[in-house]
Amino acid sequence: MQLDQLWNYTQTDMEAERFENEMRKAPNRVRLLQLRNFILEQQNNMKKVEAEVASMAERLEAARAEYEKLSASMQELAGELAEAQEDSVAELEGLIEEAQRLTDALSKCEQELQKMRRDAETRDRQQKEIRTKAAKSKQEYDQLKAVYDTEFKRDSETLKGLKAKVDAAGKAVDPALLERYKSIRQHCVPPVAKLINGQCSGCNMALASAVLRRISAGDEIVECDNCGRILYAPEGTV
Ligand SMILES: [Zn+2]
Repeated sequence: MQLDQLWNYTQTDMEAERFENEMRKAPNRVRLLQLRNFILEQQNNMKKVEAEVASMAERLEAARAEYEKLSASMQELAGELAEAQEDSVAELEGLIEEAQRLTDALSKCEQELQKMRRDAETRDRQQKEIRTKAAKSKQEYDQLKAVYDTEFKRDSETLKGLKAKVDAAGKAVDPALLERYKSIRQHCVPPVAKLINGQCSGCNMALASAVLRRISAGDEIVECDNCGRILYAPEGTV
């Protein structure tokens, strides 16, 4: 019965499938992916901070220019005050008022500059922290990668052996049936299910007696109406 060979093929195919899934879930592989994402995240953070630093430098430059402009006006005003006619009270008052306004503006500008310097220090610290974290993760990544590469090479060999077994088992199966198997496999794994107590063991649906009769007749391949798996009833079980 060709389904016996197909069932045997299914077993080897599923063994390789399980092994491949385990490889994908290997703790070292999962950790490496985590680390890689973390490093990428840090690189993005770094770019963000760098952009902030650049725009901050621009603002700092503008504030410095403003400060210089104010200082120059202040000096000019001092000169005017020195030359002012002592009897022109109105003129003196106007100049003093202007001096007060400039002093206020200067002190505000100075405060602004100080705040910017503090912000710049914070950004510096952030950059250092990000660099340290990223470097640490990169080191862990490199070390783990070396371990994982060995592990992966070993497991790939094992998988190659399992896949060779699958291919060997497939030689005993009718090519058309194997094609059918592969097409079902795209949406149903495993694509073959045993018939147990009149039920499809893939989806647990009870099969109609007409379907059971077709299976026991044994001269056609029957698929489960519900899940589409090829139904397999070992000799003497139906
Ligand atoms: Zn089913």
